[in-house]
Amino acid sequence: MEVLKTLIIGSGPAGYTAAIYAARADLKPVLYTGMEPGGQLTTTTEVDNFPGYPEGVDGPTMMVQLQQQAERFGTEVRIEMIERVELATSTGGIHKAFTAGGTEIHAQTIIISTGATAKYLGLPSEQRLRGGGVSACAVCDGFFYKGQDVAIVGGGDTAAEEATYLAKICSKVTMLVRKDKMRASKAMQHRVTNTSNIDLRYNTEIDEVLGNQVVEGLRMKNNQTQETEEIAITGLFIAIGHKPNTEIFKGQLDMDEAGYLITQGKTTKTNLPGVFASGDVQDKEYRQAVTAAGTGCMAALDAERYLQEIES
Ligand code: NDP
Repeated sequence: MEVLKTLIIGSGPAGYTAAIYAARADLKPVLYTGMEPGGQLTTTTEVDNFPGYPEGVDGPTMMVQLQQQAERFGTEVRIEMIERVELATSTGGIHKAFTAGGTEIHAQTIIISTGATAKYLGLPSEQRLRGGGVSACAVCDGFFYKGQDVAIVGGGDTAAEEATYLAKICSKVTMLVRKDKMRASKAMQHRVTNTSNIDLRYNTEIDEVLGNQVVEGLRMKNNQTQETEEIAITGLFIAIGHKPNTEIFKGQLDMDEAGYLITQGKTTKTNLPGVFASGDVQDKEYRQAVTAAGTGCMAALDAERYLQEIES
């Protein structure tokens, strides 16, 4: 059985950046892409905030370029899903991974970059208009709605932060919170209530997103009175949380209560030797392509140092 120096799981900015660094360090990485090659950025249109693209770049193009850059230095990219892992618990131990197709892979180090998946409401009209005005990332897409009226759903810290971010760009932000209170911290709630162009609606849910090709409006419903109201908007932001893709590591790696992998201090080390985590799978706070890429780089450097230590 072939024993890889480095197995990378996940193909977003974190995974590909880890691959670029690991390949250049001669670790001959093999990267498994998972079910959504390219990760969350492939669901975005224009990426305007990744340094080095003065004209912006569309998400899928950027991910193809990252893959090409990783392959240029010898990364082997396999379009398949890792379904199960058996992680070694001792230093120098061999980690095992199993693909959906039944292949068994052995590796001295594993870099986990499986990302997180934004939660959506699940309404048919919302799903149909994803990419046509429905977005799960205000920082990524808010700028496209400059000077326009938008809405945001959610009452947590993300929704509160994104609502105030959008309020600086857009003319009006209608914020829909399904309960009679917000879950966000008091400080974030104050920022929302002190922003004059945020129209905060409690006990309010989306009945339907209106529009054929692009978002044109919203029908919302007060869940106490059952009254409905239609408003005109061009952008709808869903901020009801993310789910880290960590199911296959449950019981083996330390996670927080929401399932995010826990890394040690400023490193990408997990609780197991030779297993590193980078990108959104270990970050519920920043969640940007550039921060994911940064931690991907760190994970490759941490893996390289670990291999040097066990081989010396
Ligand atoms: P949360 O899980 O904290 O909040 C999700 C929000 O979405 C809740 O208000 C919830 O409502 C609402 N919601 C969930 N499902 C639906 C639905 N189907 N329809 C309508 N509303 C729905 O997620 P966040 O992403 O906000 O935050 C995740 C974590 O990250 C938290 O621990 C947060 O504190 C942290 N964070 C910290 C930041 C910071 O410190 N700067 C910034 C961003 C996040 P309900 O309350 O009714 O369940």
